[in-house]
Amino acid sequence: MTKTKTNSAQAENKVETRSFQAQTNKLLDLMIHSIYTHKEIFLRELLSNASDALDKARFEALTRPEMASHWKIKLIANKDIHTLTIVDNGVGMSYDEVIEHIGTIAKSGSEAYARTLKAQGQGEGAAPDLIGQFGVGFYSAFMVAKRVILETQQQDADHAVRWESAGDGQYQIERIAKLDRGTTITLFLRDKDAPKLDNDDADADDSVANEQDFTDAWELRRLVKKYSDFIAFPITMDVEKWENERDEDGNVKADGKSEQKIVEETLNSMQALWTRQPSQVQAKEYQEFYRHLTRDWEEPSDTLHFHVEGQQEWSALLYVPKRAPFDLFSREPRRGLSLYIKRVFIAEDIKELIPEYFRFVKGVVDSADLPLNVSRETVQQDRMLPLIRKRLTNKLISHFKDLLNKDRAAYEQLWAEFGQCIKEGFHYDASNKDKLADLLLVRTTTQSGLSTLQEVVDRKKEGQDSLYYLTGDKLETLQDAPQLEMFKKRGVEVILLPEPVDEIMVGVLETFAELPLKSASRGDVQDLPEETAAETPPADQDEAYAGLLTRLKALLSDDVQDVKISKRLTDSAVCLVSQEGGVSTQMERMMQAMGQAMPPQKRILELNPLHPAIMALRDLAARDNEDQRLGDFGEMLLDQALLAEGAPLKNPARFARRVADAMASAAAV
Ligand code: ADP
Ligand code: MG
Repeated sequence: MTKTKTNSAQAENKVETRSFQAQTNKLLDLMIHSIYTHKEIFLRELLSNASDALDKARFEALTRPEMASHWKIKLIANKDIHTLTIVDNGVGMSYDEVIEHIGTIAKSGSEAYARTLKAQGQGEGAAPDLIGQFGVGFYSAFMVAKRVILETQQQDADHAVRWESAGDGQYQIERIAKLDRGTTITLFLRDKDAPKLDNDDADADDSVANEQDFTDAWELRRLVKKYSDFIAFPITMDVEKWENERDEDGNVKADGKSEQKIVEETLNSMQALWTRQPSQVQAKEYQEFYRHLTRDWEEPSDTLHFHVEGQQEWSALLYVPKRAPFDLFSREPRRGLSLYIKRVFIAEDIKELIPEYFRFVKGVVDSADLPLNVSRETVQQDRMLPLIRKRLTNKLISHFKDLLNKDRAAYEQLWAEFGQCIKEGFHYDASNKDKLADLLLVRTTTQSGLSTLQEVVDRKKEGQDSLYYLTGDKLETLQDAPQLEMFKKRGVEVILLPEPVDEIMVGVLETFAELPLKSASRGDVQDLPEETAAETPPADQDEAYAGLLTRLKALLSDDVQDVKISKRLTDSAVCLVSQEGGVSTQMERMMQAMGQAMPPQKRILELNPLHPAIMALRDLAARDNEDQRLGDFGEMLLDQALLAEGAPLKNPARFARRVADAMASAAAV
């Protein structure tokens, strides 16, 4: 296509020439120049799109009989002009849809794709096998084709749409006369030996020749079998077969002629994998189906396949991906399950089918009990769905518990990717909290690795009748939190909870193995075991400190609720704790982040009575309770306590000045 040709065509036929977005272009560039041995995956991508379009059409046909068709995908290979055409009778696309879906790459998708490539340190020549995963599968056509023509017709449109591009930054789009419903994609294959189609093709990039012949019937058969065998619609191809002449009974005539005939061969088995018995399915089949479903280039980390019989009748084939997808925590996360009714695809992302906290589970649920003539809306209201959801949830919980017991390493991997999701279950599915608690893995003060709550219970000290935890922002800050000094000294293990969801989780869980979960930075610590007389500050401490405490309380009354002598500090001078039953800082911040303003909760400043700085202040206050310096020192103590938590200071510059002043006067002595 030369410029002139396009321009004149534009005038006559209203051909619109549009440019790809920069993002799309970058991706195309990568695709065309990639030297990648698995170019063949383009076929999987295009067949998967055709299959999606057929799924949609078949679903619409449930309520619109005029759409009913003999659903199929047909491959047409032309060796002479070196093209491969993929025809489906699915839903097709409108003019605007072609621009939206084919002319543009979903921004999130392509950005995530670029990010992944970067993260893997790959640039040009990167693995395009990742392409499909990010919803940019159509473009894989340009790995093997130097030109692509797409023609598409929707059921009710009075015209078809033709789209064409050489992947060179632009595409042409126009309305054309009505065609049969569906989409036809023709690939002009990239190959050095292929006859040149256009004489103005000289500058086309043929540097990356296809090593495979994608017009070869054997090759196409092999690829369909390998990647797309379980597509639920026939994928057919016309092949030449020698047929022997037969007599009336169908027997081959001994003296008959044999002649060459064109027959339409179905290349895939169309077996719905999930309806088979798990013992009859091979690992490889599970893997390929997973790829088909998810476009993930990695193998799943876990597969779960079962049939439910009796009162309910349904099957499920579920997978856990190896890695969390980039949009796991987006605002409206999608569920990963597709619902089928008697093998007919109904819809994906049905909220009623699986709880949100298991949204990372991918797969298929096929029910025989739901009525087939349904719309998405009515299926969502069906009373069967909550029953399936309940059973499915229990099944997953017990499956993960088994995995935890049988293959700790695998479970830890799963936890690293999806643990945060599972923790959301405490909030959304509190009735299952005890079962979910068994799935938890936590960091603690005494272990380098992850522990289950039961393991923490098994290690508890004699006389310890609570489980202690500390929430915060960062694991490292929590490890060294002053609030934990006494716990460490007494050898009491504390669970460290650095994630925002943890606060809600412990709030809902409340107890484990009949032990209450208590925050290490809230209320008084009374029941730490092994308290020895030597550690305990003399009983008259409170009296000796009364002057200092009263003075500091008055000075800091805007910021703290009380100033007290601490039982949890051994090394640090101060720390902040919440009142028993009070809202923690973590919770406060979370509520704020969710836009729910709440009055800031004042906390309690605890002083370490055995720390030299505190003892010196005690004596200063005893000498002169009005001493000006007590005001400065008091604020410095509060700032120190905040710093130790990694919390922001009210006035960091002033704190810095005061520290410098204190250093100056200390060094001057
Ligand atoms: P994805 O399939 O992940 O959405 P693709 O790049 O493979 O990404 O396809 C982009 C979109 O183009 C599809 O979502 C679909 O809307 C549309 N599309 C592609 N091929 C077809 C087809 N054969 N029939 C109808 N729509 C199609
Ligand atoms: Mg696709």
